Amino acid sequence: MSITWNRREFLSAAAGGLLGTCLAEPRRAGAIPARQPNLVIVFPDQMRGQALGFMNEDPVITPNLDRFAQESLVLTSAVSNYPVCSPFRAMLMTGRYPHANGVLSNCNSNSAPYDCELRQTDRCWSDVLKDRGYNLGYIGKWHLDAPYKPYVDCENNRGATAWNEWCPPERRHGFDFWYAYGTYDYHFTPMYWPTDATRHSPLKIDQWGPEHEADLAIEYIRNTNGQYREADRPFALVVSMNPPHTPYHLVPQKYVDMYAGQTATDLINRPNVNLADDTSGAKLAKKHIKNYFAMVTGVDDQFGRILTALQENGLEKDTIVLFTSDHGNCLGCHDVPTKNVHYEESMRVPFLIRWPERIKPRHDDLLISTPDIYPTLLDLMGLSDDIPSDVQGASRASIITVNRGDRPTSQLYMWAPVGQPAWGRRGIRTARYTFVVSKRQGKPVERILYDNLDDPYQLRNIAARHPDIVRQLTEELEQRLAAHDDPWLQS
Ligand code: CA
Repeated sequence: MSITWNRREFLSAAAGGLLGTCLAEPRRAGAIPARQPNLVIVFPDQMRGQALGFMNEDPVITPNLDRFAQESLVLTSAVSNYPVCSPFRAMLMTGRYPHANGVLSNCNSNSAPYDCELRQTDRCWSDVLKDRGYNLGYIGKWHLDAPYKPYVDCENNRGATAWNEWCPPERRHGFDFWYAYGTYDYHFTPMYWPTDATRHSPLKIDQWGPEHEADLAIEYIRNTNGQYREADRPFALVVSMNPPHTPYHLVPQKYVDMYAGQTATDLINRPNVNLADDTSGAKLAKKHIKNYFAMVTGVDDQFGRILTALQENGLEKDTIVLFTSDHGNCLGCHDVPTKNVHYEESMRVPFLIRWPERIKPRHDDLLISTPDIYPTLLDLMGLSDDIPSDVQGASRASIITVNRGDRPTSQLYMWAPVGQPAWGRRGIRTARYTFVVSKRQGKPVERILYDNLDDPYQLRNIAARHPDIVRQLTEELEQRLAAHDDPWLQS
C-alpha cells in the first residue's frame, strides 16, 4: 500500500523529522582525512549534450547551467558509451564496461532472465566512500534492479514489460539515506521508496519530480538538527532526475511559457531533422521539441536551487559538484525517436564539474568515457589508493586539475541485443570520427563512418570511400574490445 503526499504535507513531514527517522543508522567507519570534500552528482535522464544554452547549439534556456559553466570545467566531448539507462548507470557505479559488470541492457522483465542488474558484490565508488566514513544519499531514479514476480503493483509494470523494482537495503552500495525508485515515468505523480519503506509501501507524491527531488536534496544539504546525516562527516549526494525523459508533456506550464512565441520549427535548428520531407522524425520533433526544452529549463531551475542551498549553507567551497546525464536524446534527428544509437545527439552528454580553488573553469574536449568517472572522482578526492584493481576506466583527475596527463584517443560505443552479448553494434568515437560496425545474426556486417568535423550532423556515411580510415579505426576498436574480453570479436 502506498501513501500519497502533496508537497506541503511532505515538507512538513521533512521539517518534523518524519523522514529523518526513516534514516538507517549511518555506519561509522575509518578515519577521515582533514577537509575531505563532499560530492554532489546531479544527473537528469535523457538530457543531450547539445541542450546547454551556453554551448549555442540547441536554443534552450538554461541560465543556471550557463552560470555554473563559468565556474566549472566543461568537458565538451563527454559521452555515454552505451547510451541507454541501466548500462550507463552500472558503468557509473562500477567503473567497468557492460560485459564486466553484467548490465548489458536496460533492467526490465525481458533482461531479468539474463541476470541483468547491478551485482551486490561489485564494489562501487559509493562503497569506497562509505568505508572512508562518508554519509551517502541517493534521491531519484536508480534503475539497477531486475524486476521479479509478483511485480510491484504500479504503472510502468502493467504493460508487456515490467520495469519498476524496489532496491532492498543490502543492494544500495553504501547509500544510507535512500529516496529512490527503479523506473517510473509519471513526472507529476512520482513514487519513491524512502530508506525504511518495504517493497509494498512506496510513497506517491503530487509534485513535479525534479522539484520534489530538489526540495529533498536541499533538506539533505541543510541537515537541520542532523536529521539526514552526521554533520561532522563528509557526504556524497546523488540526485537522479527523470525529466527531460518522456512523456514530454508532463512539465510545469511556467517552463513552457518561457518559450512563448517560438514555434517548433524555430526551435529545431538541427539539419538532421528532415523537416523538408516531414518524416516521422520531423513530426516527432515538431510535436515535442518545445516541451523537451521546457523540461531541460525546469531541470536547470531545480539544479540552480540545489546550488543555492550549497552556497547558503557554506558548503560551496568544499563540495565537488558534477552535472551530467545518462545519455542524450535524438528526438527525431536521423528519424530516431530517442537514444541507444551512435549519433551525437544520443551519445554526447553534459559534463560540468566544479570544485572552487581546485578546478579551474575552462572548456576541454577530453574524450572521457563513463567508466572513467569513478576513478576520476576518487582520485580527485585523494582516494586513488582505494580504486579497485578491476575498475576499467582511467582517472582523468590530473587533466581536470592541472591539464596534464594521458589523453585517450577514442571512446567506445556499444549496443547488444537482449540476451545476445556477442552481437549488436560496437564502435569508437575519436576527436574526428564516429566509426561503428554492426553485426546481426544472418545479416551482412555493416560499417558506418562519419567525419564529425566536416559533417557535424552525421549526414554522410563515408565508410566505403575511406578503406584506409576504416582499417585504422577497426584496429583501434578491436584492441579496445580485446582488452575488455568482448565476445563480439568472435561473432
Ligand atoms: Ca535513461
